[in-house]
Amino acid sequence: MIDIHNKALQKTITVDRIIKKIEGYSKGPVVVFFSGIHGNETAGVFALYSVLNKINPEDVNGTIYGLTGNIKALKENHRYLKQDLNRIWTVENLEVLESKTKLNPEEEEQVKLFSIIKDIISSYVGPFYFMDLHTTSSRTLPFITINDSIINRKFSQLFPVPIVLGIEEYLNGPLLSYINTLGYVSLGFESGQHEDEHAITCAIAFIYLVLGYINAIPQEKIRDFEVYYNLLKLESLNITDVYEVVHLHSIINGEKFKMYPNFNSFQNVKKGTALAVSNGEELVAERDSVVFMPLYQKRGKDGYFLIRKIKPFFLNLSSVLRRIKADSLLAILPGVSWDTKEKNALVVNLKVAKYLAKPMFHLLGYRNKRLDKTHLKIYNRERISKRKIYRKEKWWFKFSPN
Ligand SMILES: [Zn+2]
Repeated sequence: MIDIHNKALQKTITVDRIIKKIEGYSKGPVVVFFSGIHGNETAGVFALYSVLNKINPEDVNGTIYGLTGNIKALKENHRYLKQDLNRIWTVENLEVLESKTKLNPEEEEQVKLFSIIKDIISSYVGPFYFMDLHTTSSRTLPFITINDSIINRKFSQLFPVPIVLGIEEYLNGPLLSYINTLGYVSLGFESGQHEDEHAITCAIAFIYLVLGYINAIPQEKIRDFEVYYNLLKLESLNITDVYEVVHLHSIINGEKFKMYPNFNSFQNVKKGTALAVSNGEELVAERDSVVFMPLYQKRGKDGYFLIRKIKPFFLNLSSVLRRIKADSLLAILPGVSWDTKEKNALVVNLKVAKYLAKPMFHLLGYRNKRLDKTHLKIYNRERISKRKIYRKEKWWFKFSPN
């Protein structure tokens, strides 16, 4: 048990790793909410504590979990102690994790979370949903981040907030990228600025909408369902566009980085706008774009992202291309071959990759590249996603063309 304090509310609550587990009276989905994966982000913990303690199991179909992430860091109100818990979920790390004799504080947290996740997946049939609640150091509208698969897109488009895809191409080892390799619907929800009370309200609204959409609680039994929907719509200024990441300024060890003040997430910037200073040199936007998650705290390696709106035409086109598995055609090109029997990764000769445009890979669902000297390895989020288990769910039919 630990005490967690939230400055906005001036309140302290006492929670455990499992904030609450609610086993419903009837069968249904399994939804897992993570909070506090970053220890200075307490809004999600407070939101889960508040919502889950009000729910009557009689109303619940399936199972609802609310978990805390980095307990040791939450205690200290730091993003992390030794290592960012949201950057260590690579398959390579997980393979050696259990045989490691010496673990740092975050690896200890990871072992516990990993065993809970495995336990949940092996104990139920699903469908499974994984939601990760965060806040940001800058001012921001609430938004959703996803790994770009159709199941994630379809589910996230139910919510009246902007959606950002493709972060996984820039970050190594976020928890949700790992869950994605398992093929389940998984969304990151950033509810606002760390110490802002709105961040808690928006997280509460998001949790209720998730529970309603997946029918963990029938929508008619969530009294204020529409109020929560309208609240998120208002807080995100009616923006429901889908964006993709086009640039990340990663801070390297020893670099002196300082973001210029007063940038907000989703703020438009013109080409040439000065954004930050790195080792005495000014960093400017290389194109007209939108600032995303500028860093205004000491800990963290992601200085700022630039994102760009994806036109609905391309979103629809990519859904169609993925449905017909148009990427099979890529593999017949010279210099391109399947990496595995499961056909979820392509190996591309770098000489060839130069001629194949990155947007085309994105359209077909490929992201998350890894590089050796001569080859590019690109992973397809589509072919591993467990589409079938969601196809009978009510929300699946809410958007027809995809
Ligand atoms: Zn976070």
